[in-house]
Amino acid sequence: MSSEAPNGIWKTVQMVVTVKAYPAMSNKYGESVCVAGVRTDTETPEFIRLFPVGYRDLPSSSQFKKYQHVSLRAKKGSTDRRPESWQPDLGSLVLGDTIDTSRKWRERWELLRDLAGEGTTCEIRSRAAAVGQNSKSLALIKPADISGVSISENPDFDERTAAAAQASAAPDLFETEKEVLKAAPYKLRYDYRCQHRSCKGHSQSLIDWEVGVAGLKWRDGKAGDVRSQLERKFYEEMCSREKDVHFFIGNQHQNPGSFMVLGVFWPPVGSRPEDSLF
Ligand SMILES: [Zn+2]
Repeated sequence: MSSEAPNGIWKTVQMVVTVKAYPAMSNKYGESVCVAGVRTDTETPEFIRLFPVGYRDLPSSSQFKKYQHVSLRAKKGSTDRRPESWQPDLGSLVLGDTIDTSRKWRERWELLRDLAGEGTTCEIRSRAAAVGQNSKSLALIKPADISGVSISENPDFDERTAAAAQASAAPDLFETEKEVLKAAPYKLRYDYRCQHRSCKGHSQSLIDWEVGVAGLKWRDGKAGDVRSQLERKFYEEMCSREKDVHFFIGNQHQNPGSFMVLGVFWPPVGSRPEDSLF
């Protein structure tokens, strides 16, 4: 890890955000979001994770989007030892351009092509389970096949978490009030096999911000059966045969052998830069 600064030393990093998880409540950090992306200031692209990010507390001018270039100060923390994890100084955020999907996702492919398909879920997971936090904890894997999604109801926050969410939403001297965080109403898991030749299959939750928001919106909008809407969007559309679908996977800090799908990369089939001859 040539780009790592020693623990505790602030460094300016440049990256493109590719993952923004649904906000979680923790005793230690309050409401926070796991953000990950790709460094653009290193010789070869590498993944970076920012935590904690109190995303909804950021001024709207600092609320970056996925695929937006950002620059900020960050340091390696002492508790999260995963190689990609940095602690951000959110006051230093500077936002740049957002990479769109015009030109058949060409620019997004240029960002991700060297990382896409590097390793399989089976290998990365078993290494992290054996080695712990000092092991690769973020990847963009190419599933061999996705057999479906399982959608289940996600319970509301328990009393203690609901109280913490309420407290976190209360305005302080400088902030305007934000909406109290609600639990994502549905849990969506992808059932898939990775490219490992003896893969027996994985069933991993998708924790993308968009799933939580879609579940809330469709539940409150009387737009019919929410489960089938979620399945249509996150499986039938995003994982259709016309998409060259990849999963951003990442593990849990306290449980390195446990991986989730953090987000989906779903460019059209045939859009890889090397696929185009002209
Ligand atoms: Zn596998």
